Amino acid sequence: MIIKPRIRGFLCATAHPEGCAKHIGEQIDYVKANGKYDGPGKVLVIGGSTGYGLASRISSTFGSGAATLNISFEKAPTEKKTGSPGWYNTAAFEKAAKAEGYYAKSLIGDAFSKAMKEKAIEVIKEDLGQVDMVVYSVAAPRRTDHDGVTHQSVLKPIGGVYTNKSINLTTNLLEEVCIEPASEEEIEGTIKVMGGEDWRLWIEALGDAGVLTDDVTTVAYSYVGPKLTHAIYRAGAIGRAKEDLEKTAREMNAVLSQKGGHAYVAINKALVTQASSAIPVIPLYITILKKLLEEKGQEEGCIEQIQRLFKEKLFVDEAIVDEDGRLRVDDYEMAEDIQSEIDSIWNSINDDNLSEYVDMKLYWDDFYKLFGFGLDGVDYDAETSSLVDIEDSIVL
Ligand code: NAD
Repeated sequence: MIIKPRIRGFLCATAHPEGCAKHIGEQIDYVKANGKYDGPGKVLVIGGSTGYGLASRISSTFGSGAATLNISFEKAPTEKKTGSPGWYNTAAFEKAAKAEGYYAKSLIGDAFSKAMKEKAIEVIKEDLGQVDMVVYSVAAPRRTDHDGVTHQSVLKPIGGVYTNKSINLTTNLLEEVCIEPASEEEIEGTIKVMGGEDWRLWIEALGDAGVLTDDVTTVAYSYVGPKLTHAIYRAGAIGRAKEDLEKTAREMNAVLSQKGGHAYVAINKALVTQASSAIPVIPLYITILKKLLEEKGQEEGCIEQIQRLFKEKLFVDEAIVDEDGRLRVDDYEMAEDIQSEIDSIWNSINDDNLSEYVDMKLYWDDFYKLFGFGLDGVDYDAETSSLVDIEDSIVL
């Protein structure tokens, strides 16, 4: 088939296998050029098929020579329909890793389930013995708990209606969004889905099964962001979940450190991923941020962020953390000059001058790339088979 993007709002219904493979190749090349570091040897990545989790997998393999087991939720391709981008990313990454002699396997299914935790333990025991790093990078709209109850996560403010500028991703025009506050039940649901509980269940199950090394490092990803986005992010329902995630890290760190292990949260920068595209206001903010960081020579995508995190902040003599014990790679984003410039642009933009201040092409280029579109050297008019196998993967 000839595969073209089919975009609906912040979703794309198709993905291009060769484009995704090209994108993976570019990220591997970046890590190889950026240099090796003395990091983990055997890594479990939960949510390792796109975004920050995928970058963690690529960096630990090609930067630190690690074997990786990925857990992610994917749509397999059929003859008529393309697979999810995570499917094609995983196929391409594992092919490239194996070609260079690295172990790489995936378990495709629901990370929140008990069955997946049990299967992962079985595979680690059989193939790797133990892992010395666990990356938790799941971003999901809902979670079905071990007891069968399904919880939903929301992107809403707390305590009052939130009104702000946003970009309408269908028209590329400014709009005012007005979001009703989350109910107590919705806040609880969001904490269940995006808080620390499932991460802790993973670490406890892996620890009880004896498949973690004593000096294991586990890391999950969080976001703080500026005042501009606080009401919808850090002070909103998702922010409560992130506070819970960070509390979980501190609690797990106290336990793991008794044997020489560590649990961290890393605060990463805002950038275009499938998860962030769904948050009102954030795409416009990211687009303004990206241009300013590019001008300063400090723009980073997932792979640059994670390579810097692992190589310069985490796998150094002593991990570099803030006063709350968190690793920070949101430093360029949060710099005062960048934030005051964003504030002034934000206050100036209106329907008439939008294109003067905001280049939405920067957003869309990144968005298309997530699905394997817009990569140099890929012939998007050529016939392509949607059917790509992930060798050795186990679908649960
Ligand atoms: P993403 O959408 O690119 O990746 C999410 C991953 O989770 C994918 O691999 C997906 O397959 C997996 N997943 C989702 N539901 C699953 C399930 N039920 N079972 C197994 N796997 C499942 O998202 P991302 O932006 O890379 O987010 C990862 C983490 O980074 C999140 O905690 C997010 O809050 C955090 N973060 C993101 C940003 C940002 O701007 N994108 C910034 C800072 C922190």
